[in-house]
Amino acid sequence: MNKYNETLIACEHCDLLQVKQPLQLGQIATCPRCGSRLYFNSICSPMSMLALTLTALILLLPANLYPLLSMTMIGSTETASLLQATLKIFHEGNYFVALLIFICSTIAPFLMLLSLCCASFIISFNIQTQWLKKLLKWTDFLTHWSMLEVYLVSFLVALIKLVDLADIELGVGLVCFSLLMIINSLILSFFDASSYWQKVPIDAIS
Ligand SMILES: [Zn+2]
Repeated sequence: MNKYNETLIACEHCDLLQVKQPLQLGQIATCPRCGSRLYFNSICSPMSMLALTLTALILLLPANLYPLLSMTMIGSTETASLLQATLKIFHEGNYFVALLIFICSTIAPFLMLLSLCCASFIISFNIQTQWLKKLLKWTDFLTHWSMLEVYLVSFLVALIKLVDLADIELGVGLVCFSLLMIINSLILSFFDASSYWQKVPIDAIS
C-alpha cells in the first residue's frame, strides 16, 4: 500500500498512532498499547439499525404509558406508569428531579433513536442530504443524555424495598421498558459512528 494512502488513527486513551487496517465483519481493532477499542466493523448494517431503532421507538410509547407495576397495600391498589411517576414527583415539588427523569428516560432516548433512525434511513436508501451531518451530531450528543438503564436500576432498587411492604404485580410497561433497554443497549454497541460519518457528503463537513 502507498504510505500516503494509509489512514492513521489515534487511540482515544493513550494517543498511540496506528495505521487503520480493513476489518472483517464483526472484527474489533484494539490498541496494542492500552487494549482499548479503536474501531470495529459492525455486524449490524444501516438497514438492520433502521429496524432496531424503529422497534425501540415503538416500544418507547407503551414503556412510558402502560403501568410499570401495580401495588396493593391495606386493601387499595395503585398503578403507576413512568409518565405518571414523573408527574407525581413534579407535583410533590421536586421540579428539577422530575425534569431530569423526563429528559433522561423519555425525551433524550426518543430524540436519539429518532435521529439514528433517520440517519440509518438516509444511508440505507442512499439519499444525498446535508441533514445526515446534523443527525449524526444530534445522535452523538443525545447518547450522553439517554439513561434508560440508570432509571431501570433505580426502579428495581425501589421495587426490592417495597416487596416486603406491599403486594407488587409487575405491569406491561415494565416488560416494554426492559425490552426497550435491551434493544437500546444493542443499538449502542452495534452503532459504528465512523462508518456512518463516511457517508456524509464531503461539502457538508465544515
Ligand atoms: Zn491506547
